[in-house]
Amino acid sequence: MDIQELLAQVQAYNPQADVARITRAYELARTAHAGQTRSTGEPYVTHSVAVAGILADLHLDEDSIVAALLHDVPEDTNVSLAMIQKEFGDEVAKRVDGVTKLSQLRLGMEQTEAESLRKMFMAMAEDIRVVLIKLADRLHNMRTLQALPPNKQKTIARETMEIFAPLANRLGIYKIRRELEDLSLKYLEPEKYKEIEALLAEGTDDSQAFIVQAISILRERLTQENITPIEISGRPKHIYSIYSKMKRKGRDFSQIYDIRGVRVIVNSVRECYLVLGVVHSLWTPI
Ligand code: MN
Repeated sequence: MDIQELLAQVQAYNPQADVARITRAYELARTAHAGQTRSTGEPYVTHSVAVAGILADLHLDEDSIVAALLHDVPEDTNVSLAMIQKEFGDEVAKRVDGVTKLSQLRLGMEQTEAESLRKMFMAMAEDIRVVLIKLADRLHNMRTLQALPPNKQKTIARETMEIFAPLANRLGIYKIRRELEDLSLKYLEPEKYKEIEALLAEGTDDSQAFIVQAISILRERLTQENITPIEISGRPKHIYSIYSKMKRKGRDFSQIYDIRGVRVIVNSVRECYLVLGVVHSLWTPI
């Protein structure tokens, strides 16, 4: 993603966004990080833009997009937090500072339980948007983890699995949680990951067709019952959820039956039970 794509994406959900201000933040990040490269070899600012892009996917406010573009500036460049505050205001400075502090928090997993680390993380962040920027930062670092040496990959992947994926889960950002879990597993259990990935790929066409068919059958029956869901969606499950089920139940892939999922969102608890009744009348519960 480049800056133009980012601007277009932000404008699509936030027509009031100050495009010139976001562009200024980008220019500041670009000049401040000039000469720095990521381990992938790309200019450092590509990371800043990618992190802002992940937050734009979540439709975050303008200040968060600006803060995301600047999130590594005070720690890694000559431009100070005070300068950011002067240029972009208190809100942006507060969020950038929050992200910097979280980055400095050393997640020494040996002495502390993951659970208390997650709590400390949330308490330190104060503003939930700071945690969101940090999550987006971690997600992009995980997406580019192939560029780091193997021992670093494992440490970062473990930390992601124990701290960041559960945080994303608690915040209800399941899309990011799934991606963090799958990327972590890829580095923690590469053999298992490849095995499940290959098995899932074998059945991809089947899986997709099955889901589409199941949704259309369900939609038709729900219409007959006068239930109008807000949304029906389906997808093959993510690799980590299949992995953990195989592990938990001591089964192999062919014995895992729920490799696909369909989700129905309705308006009330009552409708939810009605839908469950319809589902049970159509398919045999296991
Ligand atoms: Mn970063």
